[in-house]
Amino acid sequence: MYTAEKAPAKINLTLDVLYKRPDQYHEIEMIMTTIDLADRIELYVLSDGKIKVESESRFIPNDERNLAYRAAKLLKKRFLVTDGVRIKIDKQIPVAAGLAGGSSDAAATLRGLNRLWKLNLSTEQLAELGAEIGSDVSFCVYNSTALAKGRGEIITELPAPPPCWVVLAKPAQGVSTQSVYQSLNLDKITHPDTNGMLKAIENSDYKNICANLGNVLETVTLPKNPEVMQIKQQMLKSGADAVLMSGSGPTVYGLVKHESRAIRIYNSLRGFCEEVHVVRMLGTRQTLD
Ligand code: ATP
Repeated sequence: MYTAEKAPAKINLTLDVLYKRPDQYHEIEMIMTTIDLADRIELYVLSDGKIKVESESRFIPNDERNLAYRAAKLLKKRFLVTDGVRIKIDKQIPVAAGLAGGSSDAAATLRGLNRLWKLNLSTEQLAELGAEIGSDVSFCVYNSTALAKGRGEIITELPAPPPCWVVLAKPAQGVSTQSVYQSLNLDKITHPDTNGMLKAIENSDYKNICANLGNVLETVTLPKNPEVMQIKQQMLKSGADAVLMSGSGPTVYGLVKHESRAIRIYNSLRGFCEEVHVVRMLGTRQTLD
């Protein structure tokens, strides 16, 4: 028995840190949306009860450290599943890039195993389980557009933003999310206008979506990675309507309305930074075509 799931990347339209909680997590507020760049997860039932991960990517572990493995283990243990699973990951999303690739693989594994192991869990239940694996996994279970609060696990779904193109550029050096949060100085940040962004999305107002992009983690990642600032400037010079770093970075994205402009930005960045993609912003739940 076999099933497959799409595991799309996300970008942050906003990312705000409100305060540090007594449990040492940061209380955050962020609006994220799904883009058309995805890993593909294939799941095959194993009758010997084992969980196995396969991937040709040299950047991710193929053992119990893999977030997809952890998702399978959690379901197996919690619901006393006797079957095992072989998880094949076709990795397309850059790793340690601020695009939630690992979280999306875990979420896709939860969705796929819910079907394959006939668990009949609701999306809300899967999102709750996802929060035990990582803060971004709950959002990735929905993989639409959403406001995320708490440490990222309290999700309110939003309408999809108006269609547009996203140019993604990833510098060579990955970034550790944990170390970025550790270096954040809460006295030195300018908070993004989350309510302004919510209103812009409700009104399907592309201009105000562009005007309200904001990510407080840029205050940590930009000074340490001059390439990130250079890419932002290059994107604006080539005609991006707005630019922002996603998550803890280092991936930068630029928004444009027309594909021709996206390709112009793509061409201006090729050779300038390690990896560039032109994708569509989707903002709605994704299934395999
Ligand atoms: P986020 O935006 O949620 O902070 P990220 O995009 O910055 O995440 P990921 O690509 O999810 O980062 O990878 C973070 C770490 O998780 C990497 O160091 C990687 O080794 C580990 N990891 C474990 N499983 C996976 C997976 N299936 N895909 C990618 N990374 C994984």
